[in-house]
Amino acid sequence: MKISKEQIELVNGRIEALLKANNFYGKKLKEAGIGKISTAEEFEQLPFSEKADLRDAYPLGLMTAPEEEIVRIHSSSGTTGKPVIIPYTAKDVDDWAIMFKRCYEIAGITNKDRIQITPGYGLWTAGIGFQNGAEKLGAMVIPMGPGNTEKQLQMMQDMESTVICATSSYALLLSEEIEKRGIKKNIKLKKGIIGSERWSDKMRKTIADSLGISLYDIYGLTEIYGPGIGINCDENTGMHYFDDYVYVEIIDPKTLKTVEDGEMGEIVITTLVKEGAPLIRYRTHDLSRIIPGKCPCGRSYPRLDTIMGRTDDMIKIHGVNVFPAQIEEILQQFPEVSSEYQIRISHLEGKDSMRLYVETNGTVDFKALADRLAEKVKSAIGFTPLVKVVEEGLLPRSEKKTKRVIDERYE
Ligand code: ZN
Repeated sequence: MKISKEQIELVNGRIEALLKANNFYGKKLKEAGIGKISTAEEFEQLPFSEKADLRDAYPLGLMTAPEEEIVRIHSSSGTTGKPVIIPYTAKDVDDWAIMFKRCYEIAGITNKDRIQITPGYGLWTAGIGFQNGAEKLGAMVIPMGPGNTEKQLQMMQDMESTVICATSSYALLLSEEIEKRGIKKNIKLKKGIIGSERWSDKMRKTIADSLGISLYDIYGLTEIYGPGIGINCDENTGMHYFDDYVYVEIIDPKTLKTVEDGEMGEIVITTLVKEGAPLIRYRTHDLSRIIPGKCPCGRSYPRLDTIMGRTDDMIKIHGVNVFPAQIEEILQQFPEVSSEYQIRISHLEGKDSMRLYVETNGTVDFKALADRLAEKVKSAIGFTPLVKVVEEGLLPRSEKKTKRVIDERYE
């Protein structure tokens, strides 16, 4: 989706503020001699922003509004090195709450609901984002924060919570505890808002069935307000995001060129009205695609597909970008294989080849299963892998993250 005239006008406002603040991005613009843009092509020439730029600006180098207008900071914890500090003005905090309120509304939540919030409060944007949006909506907040499952379940029953906000793993844990204790009859939950890390359909179904609730994926990242910039509706055809606050483009992470709607790539976000720390063309390294066309729900907000992983997971083979998540999706359609798999990419006789190892129990014809799987991969991704079926339990497993993709071309 090309950037619109109105959006370009908003970007120009941000460019002006960044030049004035003369922070890392202001300097980049100055060096490139850019003061204003007027077309989508010019927008696509603007330099990207990277997490490393944000880290280098620690502590307050991203501050773009005058200090007297900054009312709060949030921080994203890096696994390595310095964190990123994002300053917010009062308008930024309010804008975020407006978007979050829309998310609740899209999920069919109203001011009659009672929203139990289990993500953490503090430096990160999680808990407080859920809270501000809920208060804007006028719902009753039960601000639990994380952990203490005993107390969570007690409050959930006594307060008759109707909405649970959680990570997918915590929602799963709560659903298991509820089942174990046989207290489902006391639980009034109807909906769950789940932070949009990648989670399997199997897990989604387990949580939804055991609690008897509808689940919604919410998207966002600390660098861009926090959670609440997009959510899926009841049609479940991707997450609507708010194009009056953010402009989203998808790029090929290798060539850095913007791709067509519908094509998979890296999500790049530009904040259109943010004051405290506006970001232009921020590379999220999240993989997804823009879903073309209109949602059957009739809302005009554009849609992003579920997050399919991170750009670091991407493999390029025969000039096609492949994501492990795509292979996982295919495997899920075959009940006779386990969820373990291994992908090996090698370069043989001048050609890239992909071997896909899957496991099954001894009751099916290995050769026929391999053929059916290869056929399915070909139709979904565009080339035929060599599928090797092995006995269940033979592929490596580990407590931590199992390495499932082995690229022998660069070893
Ligand atoms: Zn919709």
